[in-house]
Amino acid sequence: MHSILRKNVTEGRMAKKQGVTITWLGHSAFHILTAKGSSILIDPWLNNPKAPVNSDSITQVDLILITHGHSDHMGNAEEVAAKTGAKLVAIYEIAKYFSLKGIENVQSLNKGGSMVFRDVRVTMVDARHSSGIDLNNTVLPGGEAAGERACSISCR
Ligand SMILES: [Zn+2]
Repeated sequence: MHSILRKNVTEGRMAKKQGVTITWLGHSAFHILTAKGSSILIDPWLNNPKAPVNSDSITQVDLILITHGHSDHMGNAEEVAAKTGAKLVAIYEIAKYFSLKGIENVQSLNKGGSMVFRDVRVTMVDARHSSGIDLNNTVLPGGEAAGERACSISCR
């Protein structure tokens, strides 16, 4: 199994379990490569100072999960989604924001909602945080912050 990342990241930032590789990309950004090869990015702010790669290094992504509207979480999501065609999943308000920005492959969920993508089930769960979208010196309403639990398709 190979990583989508051109640049190798250090072993200390990767974890492998049951064929799933999880790579920390700094801050709250993670890459998950499932045992069946689905490539998932969570909160891809890749300009963070701890990021071992930048957004140019992302070559192939299937799914982008966004937890809330803050710039240090949405970060490079628009750029990566546009470049790769990955399905972007977020709470309704943030999904609508990306749709209005021209991202075509967007799916909204709400808390308690679930979707299946290939070998992965994504369930939106509660989180305690705010979720305004930083844009041009103003803050747009971004719905509520949410966690997105990704697990194998057979989980509930
Ligand atoms: Zn935040």
